[in-house]
Amino acid sequence: MSRAMSQREVAKVVPSMPTSDGAGVRLNRSLGTSALPMVDPFLMLDEFRSDDPNDYIAGFPDHPHRGFETVTYMIAGEMQHKDSAGNSGLLVGGGAQWMTAGRGLVHSEMPRQADGLMWGFQLWVNLPRAEKMKEPRYQDLAPEQIPEVELQGAKVRVVAGEVEGVRGPVQGISVAPTMLDIALRPRARFVQGLPAEHGAFVYVFVGAANVGPNGGVRVPRGAVAVLGPGEEVTIEADAEGARLLLLAARPLKEPVARYGPFVMTTQEEIKRAVMDYQTGRLR
Ligand code: FE
Repeated sequence: MSRAMSQREVAKVVPSMPTSDGAGVRLNRSLGTSALPMVDPFLMLDEFRSDDPNDYIAGFPDHPHRGFETVTYMIAGEMQHKDSAGNSGLLVGGGAQWMTAGRGLVHSEMPRQADGLMWGFQLWVNLPRAEKMKEPRYQDLAPEQIPEVELQGAKVRVVAGEVEGVRGPVQGISVAPTMLDIALRPRARFVQGLPAEHGAFVYVFVGAANVGPNGGVRVPRGAVAVLGPGEEVTIEADAEGARLLLLAARPLKEPVARYGPFVMTTQEEIKRAVMDYQTGRLR
């Protein structure tokens, strides 16, 4: 006997807030604010989008990270990445970088263009306590390494997770993330299965979408819809179409101690991270 999949409902819709970070990059933060501190294990989501170089050109000069992962996903523009261990790479539109900061590194993320549209995202994903001090690791993905699945009215880029048997290239992350970039034509509907216990949310960055069963809840551009538990989510574009990110991963259910670019489980570990950075041991 078959049984209907349980549908994820929208638990809440939270608009993003304009802020700035790095050396004055203007961006919109949706996760990681007092209104929405996290969706375990996701800690932060920023969207930066501007064709005014004054909004982005100062970039993110040298800064440390420890204890979590940063995921950069570019829609347009170019971002140069360099770290203190000598790793470097160029992120271009359609490309992604999944960086496991682990025990730590110092890096810079700098726009490589002086004009034109710069549009992308940075997502922070927590690491389990047992993995916070692992060696740093990069998964750098050129645009053509991210598979695109064409469905009725939908085009889905699979950065991580699986859609219709197509697996994303990000591997070896213990929270088993799903990260999809979903473009929907007007009124198109997309249904995605997700592990029922995974923390999950949708971020709309073009148009607007209705998320959830029975017509759903309207989610405007620039807002996050936090999803409740369930086995699948239904997303339907409104009359102008929509483009959105769908994120899901296994929640860690561990204490979170955050201080700027460090995310640990206790204040003691934070103090240690600050000291290691100040004494040049974070590299
Ligand atoms: Fe960074």
